[in-house]
Amino acid sequence: MTAAVLADLVGGAFRPADGGSTLPSLNPSDASDVVALVPEGSADGANAAAEAASAALGNWRGMSGPARADVLYTWAGVIAQRADELARAMTREVGKPIAESRGEVARAVVILRYYAGEAVRANGEVIPAQAAGSLQFTLREPLGAVALITPWNFPLAIPLWKAAPALAFGNTVVLKPSEMAAQVASLLAETAVAAKLPPGVFNVVHGTGPNVGTPLLRHPAVRGISFTGSSAVGAQVAALAAGRNVRFQTEMGGKNVLIVARDADLDAAATLAAAGAMRYAGQKCTATSRVVVAREVADEFLVRLRAEVDRLPLGPVDDPAAAVGPVISARSRDAITQALRDGKAERLFGGVLPDDARFARGFYVAPLVIRLTDPEEPLAQRELFGPVLGVFVADDLDHAIALANQTPYGLSASLFTRDIKTALTYVRRIEAGLVRVNGDTTGVDPHAPFGGMKGSSSGSREQGPAAREFYTETKTVQINP
Ligand code: NAD
Repeated sequence: MTAAVLADLVGGAFRPADGGSTLPSLNPSDASDVVALVPEGSADGANAAAEAASAALGNWRGMSGPARADVLYTWAGVIAQRADELARAMTREVGKPIAESRGEVARAVVILRYYAGEAVRANGEVIPAQAAGSLQFTLREPLGAVALITPWNFPLAIPLWKAAPALAFGNTVVLKPSEMAAQVASLLAETAVAAKLPPGVFNVVHGTGPNVGTPLLRHPAVRGISFTGSSAVGAQVAALAAGRNVRFQTEMGGKNVLIVARDADLDAAATLAAAGAMRYAGQKCTATSRVVVAREVADEFLVRLRAEVDRLPLGPVDDPAAAVGPVISARSRDAITQALRDGKAERLFGGVLPDDARFARGFYVAPLVIRLTDPEEPLAQRELFGPVLGVFVADDLDHAIALANQTPYGLSASLFTRDIKTALTYVRRIEAGLVRVNGDTTGVDPHAPFGGMKGSSSGSREQGPAAREFYTETKTVQINP
């Protein structure tokens, strides 16, 4: 397969990004495979896309909810028809095992259908007025043109769980996808054109964060900003948005924990801890990166965990058996390796790449389980975004919850127990936006609110009914006789 130079989608037409050089988007399983050439982009491209979104706003927000719903249903249908192509492209570009890519495409379809349904629901409420005979109500109105800045790890689901509600509630969109998932974003743009979204309603502009993302966020037509990515970039995005007094949400990293209580189903806990930590090479924002296990069952649990990790094959993702796959880039692989070298943790098992020439062609990190003792050390605090799981041993539930909460993050958490009191204590005290009992730390139903506490999020939530809160603002109306 040959690499294409990607074009922006602006005002319903594909146009080459302005001048400048390109970056290769590489297949992480085999870096000799250049998936696409991504323009580094410029402020001109960002400005053109923001202006196209602004020009399209009047007609789009003026359409009825049911009419917007029809457009989103059609878009869902086009994606469903091209599911196989989209899943293969995702697997090639971001190194996601094919079964998970297929799952993500199916989820993209569900997201569009869900928000198509939301576009026809009530968009305000009637509130009794003090003045007799007066009718008082709220209207939820779109923010305007919104900028969506997305990471590479869920290259279809994240752009759509932002774009679908934005569009359903009458906003227009400029998507700035990750440079490392730009080919999938281009295919998404093609599906929007095929679904006949009105020109300018959904725009895609390629390029780096500094070249394109920053000018986009500064454009006066942009009235809302939804960002998902690393905490460092999220902090810059939040500062810029606050300075412009523009509504924003920043969804960022995690150091997600799975607690194993002394009465846990150890088999289930080990299976889901291994899968949560290692599948997709630990590159889900909700991946399990820490386990806190009760001292009484720690040895037994580790035996089971080891067996479960061994059951997840590492390999290039064109091998259908591969469960782990590569990490996204050489930079990511080297950063993980360096963090492990600098850290103090004891290796429990794994961490040795098999002697196989295939692993020299891509960006591989062998699944590794380490023992953590100091909750303040960097390996216990920092998100590594790789197939590395740290295990703490806790003396009791209080200690386990304290260890679990001792990070700057608060995205997702799980506890395995058979005791209702233990479960309730944990649910109340754990500092995480997504809290499970006897489940994995990864994923959430697309119709339920999604987001983190503490350093994982700016506080708002995505998906489900929470998206209406973000993508609309309230107008309070009183009509007197
Ligand atoms: P990243 O922060 O490097 O990049 C995210 C996006 O921001 C990219 O499109 C990038 O081009 C853009 N960007 C970079 N600098 C910018 C700037 N100065 N101005 C504007 N935009 C800029 O993140 P990544 O490596 O693509 O993604 C991995 C991270 O995303 C992990 O930390 C992961 O936890 C997080 N993540 C969080 C969630 C969540 O919902 N909480 C979901 C998925 C991923």
